Amino acid sequence: MTLTVAIVGRPNVGKSTLFNRLVGQKLALVDDQPGVTRDLREGEARLGDLRFTVIDTAGLEDATDDSLQGRMRRLTERAAEMADICLFMIDARDGVLATDELFADILRKNAKHVILAANKSEGKAGEEGWLEAYSLGLGEPLRLSGEHGEGMEDLYQVLMPLA
Ligand code: GDP
Ligand code: MG
Repeated sequence: MTLTVAIVGRPNVGKSTLFNRLVGQKLALVDDQPGVTRDLREGEARLGDLRFTVIDTAGLEDATDDSLQGRMRRLTERAAEMADICLFMIDARDGVLATDELFADILRKNAKHVILAANKSEGKAGEEGWLEAYSLGLGEPLRLSGEHGEGMEDLYQVLMPLA
């Protein structure tokens, strides 16, 4: 059985960028559950010698503030149900926002296992946000830069014992 990892978090934190890095060209649409399906992308990830299924939650980008919370909850719950691990991503440059705290609560209730990641951590600009991420109470945050490929070894190290 392959490990399934869902990348979750609010719009614009860099989920799809990391998904694309992990998957490369190979990706497929998840095709059950009408309504939610177009909001989830599934692909086969490679990270060193690890192979796992990765899910990108993509359905919140066009949500208005009013509809965001409900959609966020449903989509995140669905991803958490499908996945062995939720990689919960925040933007280290923004620090922890109220929406991130909502995600943390949803994941605490629904996810089997959460890995916290402070993305956009390249350079000095992300240091404060990364430290702030500890306040979410989800353990030690990874310092990632999906765009620049930084922190991939740390991600490997936390996934390897779970795979
Ligand atoms: P998503 O909405 O969470 O899927 O976020 P995207 O992957 O679409 O990225 C949103 C924006 O953040 C894009 O402009 C990306 O180029 C940028 N981005 C993604 N990862 C990083 C990163 O590691 N560092 C920086 N500085 N920008 C990033
Ligand atoms: Mg996206």
